[in-house]
Amino acid sequence: MAKCAFCDANFEAGAGDVLLVCPYCGTAQTTEGTKFKDHYMIRVHFDQHEAQTTLLDWVSKQLGAPEDLPVTAKFVKYEQIWYPFWISRVDARTDYHGMGRDATFHNEWPQRRGAYKRIDFFWKPEAGEFTRRHEINIAGVKKIDEDVRSHPIPTRAKEYFSHAHAEEFDGKVLHSNLTEEQARKMARQIAHDRQTNLVLQEVSKIESRNDDIDVGETFLIHVPVWELVYRYGNKKYKASVSAPTGYVIESEYPRSMSFRAGGIGIGLVMLLIGAGLIILALAEVLGLPFGPLLEGGGLISGSLMAIIGLVLMYKGASSKEAKEAV
Ligand SMILES: [Zn+2]
Repeated sequence: MAKCAFCDANFEAGAGDVLLVCPYCGTAQTTEGTKFKDHYMIRVHFDQHEAQTTLLDWVSKQLGAPEDLPVTAKFVKYEQIWYPFWISRVDARTDYHGMGRDATFHNEWPQRRGAYKRIDFFWKPEAGEFTRRHEINIAGVKKIDEDVRSHPIPTRAKEYFSHAHAEEFDGKVLHSNLTEEQARKMARQIAHDRQTNLVLQEVSKIESRNDDIDVGETFLIHVPVWELVYRYGNKKYKASVSAPTGYVIESEYPRSMSFRAGGIGIGLVMLLIGAGLIILALAEVLGLPFGPLLEGGGLISGSLMAIIGLVLMYKGASSKEAKEAV
């Protein structure tokens, strides 16, 4: 339990929650009760009904989705979760000295221009610098789906957090497990790693480097996501839809019976052809009178086809739902 330093209400907060948003007055605050001012949100543009329609429309276009899905699917759960993200603008400058790979070419073949008899690789000292502005985006909660964590956030469309707006859709605004201080520290490290990747595109070995990393504007932004569950037949499927953009972040969906049966059929055919190829290849090795029907490789391609066939059959038979990231 926590007590709001601004409206005195008691509200729930977990052990890892360090930057809290009061569910009664919407004030973002530290556990010591200091107000956090750089608190933004992205506005909802897809209400519950629109998010569901968008999702069903998307699902029905997926390969193998049952045709009657949009009319028969029934939504059994819908919740608008406001996930916290820390966004930092980081200005970074790195100058470096290192060793790059280079080569000299000797003895061009007279009949083949551009082809050489000898190529000598050698190390060459190189130096340079990279100046970049990075926008670093760090999820404020540890328990978050990987697809939600990495989905694009249109930070240009940010506005100041409005408690009334989140309440309008009965949104659940999550506290952050990271303080501003921790988020800035992580942003610095991530920017440093990105600079390292830039340098490693130029040199293979870094001998020395100087980094000037300045973590600038850092703010907390709450992003609303519709967490939906729908039922089709006797199974339930989960989906996440971005409330600002209607983007289907991820969705599980059923495959139609005919699609799965098709998978099993193709799998079986491939398995049989594969087995046939293996038999032919073995026959050749054993000297059986089939003649040289195949010039080697029959064993490999046969095995490959048999394996693909088995996988297709397994996938078709498996009742596990499909899940595809967008
Ligand atoms: Zn309050």
